[in-house]
Order: sequence, then structure tokens, then C-alpha cells
Amino acid sequence: MIELHCHTTYSDGTLTPGELVAAAVKAGVVALAITDHDTVSGWDDALAAAQPHGLEIVPGVELSTVHNDRSLHILGFYPNAEKLRGDLHERVEGRKRRAAEMVEKLAELGYPIELPEMGEGMAPGRPHIATALVNAGYVQSSREAFDRWLGDGKPACVEYEKFSIVEGIALLRRSGGVPVWAHPYLFRGGTVEPVLEEMVAAGLMGVEVYHPTHSPSQVDNLKKLCAEHNLLMTGGSDYHGPCDLKGKEAIRLNMLNLPLNLLEPIKQAALDLKG
Ligand code: AMP
Ligand code: ZN
Ligand code: FE
Ligand code: FE
Repeated sequence: MIELHCHTTYSDGTLTPGELVAAAVKAGVVALAITDHDTVSGWDDALAAAQPHGLEIVPGVELSTVHNDRSLHILGFYPNAEKLRGDLHERVEGRKRRAAEMVEKLAELGYPIELPEMGEGMAPGRPHIATALVNAGYVQSSREAFDRWLGDGKPACVEYEKFSIVEGIALLRRSGGVPVWAHPYLFRGGTVEPVLEEMVAAGLMGVEVYHPTHSPSQVDNLKKLCAEHNLLMTGGSDYHGPCDLKGKEAIRLNMLNLPLNLLEPIKQAALDLKG
């Protein structure tokens, strides 16, 4: 079984790449994509940890773009890290500036916090701020922090620095990465069909059909759209670690039981891009 969407401590996951690999092996995963937000720094540790287990690591990334003033995530599979480096550095620096702005807003609201130091190539996100709010005792859970301050449109939320879907898709393609729209039904800036048309026109190659937040009818609709537009289908649990407080139902590795045959066409598309 495969997992094509996972986070580590290099972005807002709670497991290191090595811990994630161990958990994936235990859960019966045979191919695991490392898709941290705007960074590829977790790949090397994951590859090293996976090798003795015969676990296949799929190098990936989840780019944060802005569309219609809302965040839109684009997964990229098999990009060349060297070709992404400069642009990702700029995205991570933007995330650091954004985190500082959110901390400033919280201080103005009367909730001063300190963010943990993050190393080179590590991408801070709202979950880090939520954790700091919990640690400071202002809220019981990170869910509460999102509900009160950090969720989209809430008083301390700051959008990513400008980076369009067109720029994101182009960056991935010129780096040899297959661009895939992540969790389309989580996008809050428009309906799926017209946004998909725009992304396909920009060079999108796939859609994340399977995601824990998608209902069966949404999955069916995405399958239909993929067939219509000749797009690749991917899926993953969007795992952020065992103590993730995102949903009512806990996210577990391998919960979607996705077959290995989803991966072959993605690999082939990545080879064709580099061809
Ligand atoms: P960021 O990229 O900094 O905007 O953070 C996005 C991450 O925050 C997502 O991957 C989720 O893990 C988490 N997240 C977003 N919205 C919520 C929410 N309403 N409640 C809990 N976690 C959320
Ligand atoms: Zn995340
Ligand atoms: Fe995402
Ligand atoms: Fe994600």
C-alpha cells in the first residue's frame, strides 16, 4: 500500500523523517512520499532510514500558492531538488516572515508567544504557532487555536506571500516534478471545476483524488474530472503525526489503503517531463 502525502518535522509534521519511516513500515506502507510544505530538506534522512527496510521513498513537496486570496496547495512528485532550491529558499523565508507577522498579531491581541527556533530548510506554519499557544496555556488544543485565531479569515491568520498557481505549476514542471492539486475540496476560494480548468491550462498533471477529508461522492467527482482531463490520480492521508488534532477522526498512516499501481504512471510522467 502507498502513502503519497506526508509531513515531517521539516515542516509541520510531528515525526522526524526517520520516525515517519519507522511508522510507515509498521503500518505496511511500501512506498512513502515525503511532501513537506515548501521544503525538500526531509528527503535525505527519509531515504537513509528507509533503505534497510526496503521501503521506497517518493521524493515530493507540497507548494503553498495563493489563488483568489486563499491558500491552494500543489503537490509535486520527483522534482529535482537542485532546480527547486533557490525558489524554495525564498518560499521558506516568506513563511518565516509570515510566522513573525502572526506572532505580532497575537501579541497585539494580548497573547504573546515565542516560536521555537527552526533550522535551515525547515518551514514554519500555523500548526507551530498553534502548539506555542497551547504551550503558553492560552488554549487547550491546537484545534481551539485555529478556531479562535489561526483558521482562514481569523484575526491572527496571515496568508502566504504572493505565489500564484501558474507560478507554482511552472516551477514544478521546470524542476521535473509532476504537479498535482492537493485536496481540491479543501480549497475555499472557488468551486473545484473552474479552478481545475485554470490549473489544467497552466500545466497541471494530476489531482489528489483520495484524501481523508474527501467524501465518497467528492472522490467520484474527482475521478470523473481526471478521466475528462486526462489527469493522473494520487492519494494520501496527509499524515502529520500521531498527535495531530486536525479532525474528528484520527488520521492514520495507510488508512486509505491505496494500491501501488497508482504510482507507476506518476513515475512515468516524471520521466517524460525530464525526457
Ligand atoms: P499553513 O501552511 O501554515 O497555512 O498551515 C497549514 C496546515 O495547518 C495544514 O496542513 C493543516 O495541518 C493545518 N490546518 C489548517 N487549517 C486548520 C484547522 N482549521 N484546524 C487545524 N489545523 C489546520
Ligand atoms: Zn501541514
Ligand atoms: Fe495541504
Ligand atoms: Fe499536507
